[in-house]
Order: sequence, then structure tokens, then C-alpha cells
Amino acid sequence: MENTTQEVAFPRLSDNEIATIGPMGEHIVVADGEVVFHAGQPNIDLFIVESGSIEIVNPWDNRRIALHEKGGFSGDIDLLTRRPIVVTGVARGETHLIKIPGDSVCELLMRHPQIGESLLEAFRARRILLNAQGNIGLKVYGGAECPETNLIREFLDKNFVPYTWYRRESFQSCTAEDPAGTGNAPTVDCGDGVVLTAPTLQHLAKCAGVWRECPAGTVDLAIVGAGPAGMSAAVYAASEGLSTLVLDRLGPGGQAASSSKIENFIGFPSGLSGTELATRAVIQMLKFGAQIVAPVCITKMETAAEPGEPHLLHLDCGNVVKATNVLIASGLAWRRLDALGTSRLEHAGIHYACTTTEAISHGSDEAAVVGAGNSAGQAAMFLAERYAKTVHIIVRGNDLGASMSSYLVDRILSMPNIVLHYGSQITRIIEDGRLHGVEIENASGETSIIGVGALYVFIGAEPQIDWLPAEVARDEKGFLLTGGDAAAAGGWPLADRAPCALETTVPHLFAAGDVRSSGTKRVGFAVGDGALAVACVHTLRPHNAAAH
Ligand SMILES: Cc1cc2nc3c(=O)[nH]c(=O)nc-3n(C[C@H](O)[C@H](O)[C@H](O)COP(=O)(O)OP(=O)(O)OC[C@H]3O[C@@H](n4cnc5c(N)ncnc54)[C@H](O)[C@@H]3O)c2cc1C
Repeated sequence: MENTTQEVAFPRLSDNEIATIGPMGEHIVVADGEVVFHAGQPNIDLFIVESGSIEIVNPWDNRRIALHEKGGFSGDIDLLTRRPIVVTGVARGETHLIKIPGDSVCELLMRHPQIGESLLEAFRARRILLNAQGNIGLKVYGGAECPETNLIREFLDKNFVPYTWYRRESFQSCTAEDPAGTGNAPTVDCGDGVVLTAPTLQHLAKCAGVWRECPAGTVDLAIVGAGPAGMSAAVYAASEGLSTLVLDRLGPGGQAASSSKIENFIGFPSGLSGTELATRAVIQMLKFGAQIVAPVCITKMETAAEPGEPHLLHLDCGNVVKATNVLIASGLAWRRLDALGTSRLEHAGIHYACTTTEAISHGSDEAAVVGAGNSAGQAAMFLAERYAKTVHIIVRGNDLGASMSSYLVDRILSMPNIVLHYGSQITRIIEDGRLHGVEIENASGETSIIGVGALYVFIGAEPQIDWLPAEVARDEKGFLLTGGDAAAAGGWPLADRAPCALETTVPHLFAAGDVRSSGTKRVGFAVGDGALAVACVHTLRPHNAAAH
């Protein structure tokens, strides 16, 4: 029988287990009512209860969230991220604890894998329960149709920051420069009297405790992009002893984080959400010692001047990272519908992802999805099952099966509230600052109007690599060439070896996942690519060593 999330979140260590890990920490006694740790404290330690108890309370309303008694232990994912914690722990009764320094937690996980498994599963499940509680963490105020509000929510979701969203109804002006002075700019209450208005991602990241410092120095492997390909590469690289730095402009998860249920990823027969995949992957990479930094963008890359020298990544936070190997795993972005003048409705009725963040913005209205790939299919099913009365799928061709997995096609065809519009394309957006509908034209040139409150766009995709130098060869659609294709493109500079399978036309610069030419846009392939890229790095290590 499977354990419930509650059981997984709050296991108790046995006397034997406590005796095993006890020597890694210090035995301390805390008086009744004394604060063991408080919300906002970074670099927290791990506390294991030998007797007495720690009450975990929400600092906003002092509500009890949990009680750790004998054998219980404190902490969640922030023990690994080293970010400030969101709850406060108070001793109830005279309490005897083992205090294990936070910096030793990864060592504990590696030295005692069985105990480590209980801890890691608990950390993961606790964050799920915490997020589900509501009224915890930051408070976000803003309109659902306000792109700035939705970017804030997406950033916090991706970075596992608990928050409560207080939805404002007005949607007319939501930027800080609001000329009407209607005060509709989104605000974030970070606690301790810190309130941000229309914050940049950097300011938000600082207030949420996500941001630690702009990375610098030299690493064995720098990974650009924390989607499935980047996260998989980080796990493999760090577990094999490479110093590994992952950089993402938003946070971990990539496109996969927009998926409500990934059903074709091996090992999860009943599917798992993109958020769950990202949470598991981040815990795994941090356990092995990889470092992840977000939000950070690469502004420029200087490729190694000589073989054996590092590549230089210039970051928008001001520093330069030197990397012996760089993996580009920056995925793709969905092509905008800008030709129809839709940019101001972006996130405000027109979306390029489909998670709860976007879906709850439009309640039970009718919705439309454009596209015929798996992403469009997933989005349509998610909306039809949970959020929309009717979902219209607008498809240019006459057959869903050409680009969508057949399990998804079957499911869509059996959904009574999904309407398919084959041979159709959008010709006009009907809006007045808020989306009201779309005009579509069929193959015979006839037009009709579908009233919808939200439009989800998954048509064609472009790689995210405008910061890469031109010497890195691309295919005709702009995706990166690797291995034999890179060699065939010309420009490979080394006479003593060919590029390895995922190497681009620049030595020690790799590409994996959706950004790569001929990649199959699926989570499983991206994960496999990430692992293969690390295998390439290993193959080339003697070359690195020789160069040093
Ligand atoms: C709604 C939806 C549902 C899907 N459902 C499924 C499914 O059920 N099954 C399946 O197999 N596939 C599914 N997919 C496809 C799958 O998610 C992708 O194939 C996969 O995520 C690709 O992984 P990736 O790591 O290559 O790139 P991505 O997931 O795109 O990740 C790239 C990362 O790079 C970051 N980045 C981009 N540029 C920069 C930069 N300059 N600096 C720093 N960081 C940068 C981005 O922020 C992002 O986090 C779905 C996709 C979507 C959109």
C-alpha cells in the first residue's frame, strides 16, 4: 500500500537511526517556548528530536503546521537550497535535540543513504503540503490579467517559494508607471515590513531568499538552462565529481514545469507533474553538490581562445564564469502570435504555457488551444478535465496523429467538452484589453468567431540562443548542430579528433535537449541527452587534463 503524503512528510527515525547519525551533530537542550529556528533564517541546521518536541508554526498567523516529536526532524527543501526558511520552530517542553550543521546535510545523505531517503522524501512532501496550506510565505497582490503578476507567480512557483495570491479584479494598468495612479501594480509583501511594487525578478528573488550571490570562478561544467536536459546533466555530472553550475533565467523545470501530467516518462506509470519532476531533480542535484542559480541570463559567451582554456560566460548579474565545459540546454520558446497584435495580452488571456498558474486566471470560461503537438494536447486535456467548460483545439492540418502521441489523441477524441477545428487558423483576436474571442478561418476561407476567455498557444518553436557566438553552427531552423552534423557543417577546428555525439562546432561546448537539432521534443529524450552530454565530457577529460 502506498504511503500518504502526510506519512511520507513526517516519518520518525528509529533509535538505531538516531544513534547512527548522532555523532555527526551536537546534543543540545532547548527550554520550553524557546525558538529553535525562525522564519527568514538562511543556512538552517537539521534538528532531530530525541525527547520533547518542536512545534512548526506559520509566522503570519502563528498557526501550528506540524509537531515534530521523538524521532521527528526539522527541515524541507530549504535545508538543501540553503535559502531562508518560511516557518518558525518553537520547543514545546524541555526538548533534547541533535543539531547537525546544515553544511553537513549532503554528507549525511551520502554516508547514510537509507536514512537519506527518508529525509529527502520528507523534504519533498513537506513542501507540497506547505504550498497546499495557503496563507504561508509571501503575499502577492495583483490582477490575473496583469502579465507582471503572472510572471511573479511563475517565478515563485518555479523556485518552490510558498506564497498566497490575493487576486485583484482590475486589469487596466498593472505596471509601476501606471499613469492613472490607480495603484494596480502588483505588490509583494515579503514580511518584516518589506513590500515591493512591480519588482524586477532580481528584486523579487532577493526578497524571496532565492538569490544568494552572482556566481564567479571556474567550474568543470556550466549548464545553461535548468529544464529536464540541464537538470539531468547536473545530476550525472555532480554525482561523478565534476564541479557543476546550473544557470537559469527563471528557475528550474523548463517547459516540463508547464506540464500538468507527464505520462510518458519511464518509472512513473500514473504520470507525474512537471513541478514534481523539477522538485525531485533539484533535490537530487543539490544532494550531489551541484549549484543552481536563478534568475540569471547569459549576456555573452566568449569561446576558449586556445584548446584547454575555459569558455567565458558573461552573466547579467555582473560576473564572468569560467567553464572548462559548457552545456547549452536552454530549450525552446513558443513562437509568439505577435503578428496579430497580441503582445499586450501576453499572460493576460494569451498564454504560452498551461499550468494551474495560467488556468486559474480564467475560471470556468471557454478556452482555446492552438497547435497539434503533445504540448497542445496536454494543455487541452488539462483544461478540459479541470478548468474549462469547453476547450477548442485549433489545428492547421487535418490529423492530430501526425505530431501528437497516440495515447493523447485517443483521449482528446473521447473528451465530450473538447471541440476540434481542423484545417483552421486564427485570423483575428477579439479583445478590449481583455481577451473575448478569436476569429478563425477554415480551409474553404470561411470565417467564424469562437468566444473564449483564454488562448493557449503552442505553435512552432524557436531555440533560445541569441547570446551564442555565430561560430556555433545551427540548422536552417536555428537549432544547434552536434556530433556528425556539426562536423559536416564545417568549421570544426581540431585535427586530432571529431566532435563527440553532443558536441557543437566549438570544442567542449555541448548542446542537449530541445535546443539541439534533430532532438525529439520530449522529456525522456531531454533527460537522456543530458546524461549523454556528461558522458561526452568524461570522454574528453584526458584532453582537459592534458591541457591543464
Ligand atoms: C505544456 C507542455 C506540456 C508538455 N508535456 C510533455 C509530456 O507530457 N511528455 C513529454 O515527453 N514532453 C512534454 N513536453 C515537452 C517537454 O517539456 C520538453 O521537450 C522538455 O522540457 C525539453 O527540455 P529541455 O531541458 O531541452 O528544455 P526546456 O524544458 O525548454 O528548458 C530550458 C530552460 O532553459 C532556460 N533558459 C533559456 N534561455 C536561457 C538563457 N539564455 N539563460 C539561462 N537560462 C535559459 C529556460 O528558462 C528553461 O528553464 C511538454 C511541453 C509543454 C510546453
